[in-house]
Amino acid sequence: MKKGKLIVFSAPSGSGKTTIVRHLLEKPELNLAFSISATSRKIRGTEEHGKDYYFISPKKFQKFIKKEKFIEFEEVYKDNFYGTLKKEIKRLRKEGKNVIFDIDVIGGLNIKNHFPKKTLAIFVKPPSLEEMERRLRNRQTDSEEKIKERVAKANHEMQFADKFDVILVNDNLEEAKEKAYKLVKEFIEK
Ligand code: 5GP
Repeated sequence: MKKGKLIVFSAPSGSGKTTIVRHLLEKPELNLAFSISATSRKIRGTEEHGKDYYFISPKKFQKFIKKEKFIEFEEVYKDNFYGTLKKEIKRLRKEGKNVIFDIDVIGGLNIKNHFPKKTLAIFVKPPSLEEMERRLRNRQTDSEEKIKERVAKANHEMQFADKFDVILVNDNLEEAKEKAYKLVKEFIEK
């Protein structure tokens, strides 16, 4: 069985990366498991604790930072912390899985730097910032202020695209899913 590889998907939000990650998780032959991050942000819509994220209080998040429980963490948005727990990666690798991450650009590069050979880091690029903003509005989960914050962040994140192993442009979701599948399959079979 192919196991123990790390697959990082990073992108500005609204680029479609979460949809791509979910698609790959449905493929049993890839033997993937989702790395559940911890976050101090509030639970949203249909999200579940222990499935989408480990939702913890800002206070607990700070305590975990002090205790060095994270392999990487970021204040992705003001007062909203997100991080990958060392324990989570250990748990999934022990299960014999390849681990897939849906994390922000800096976090993704941090994972790549920690495990350069084992990691395939993919940057998902939205076709344009206008399109990305449109997708965020369609999602109807964020306030106008939050959308503006996400768009500003996306502008900044685009500069890091070249540091990734691969840039995957998502101008057609079906094609992007297919390309992502091929990239991951090839990498885990190496
Ligand atoms: P959202 O609030 O939309 O779920 O996520 C906001 C951003 O935080 C997304 O870009 C998501 O990929 C990123 N993110 C989620 N988990 C982590 C993590 O563990 N570490 C880092 N650095 N970013 C994360």
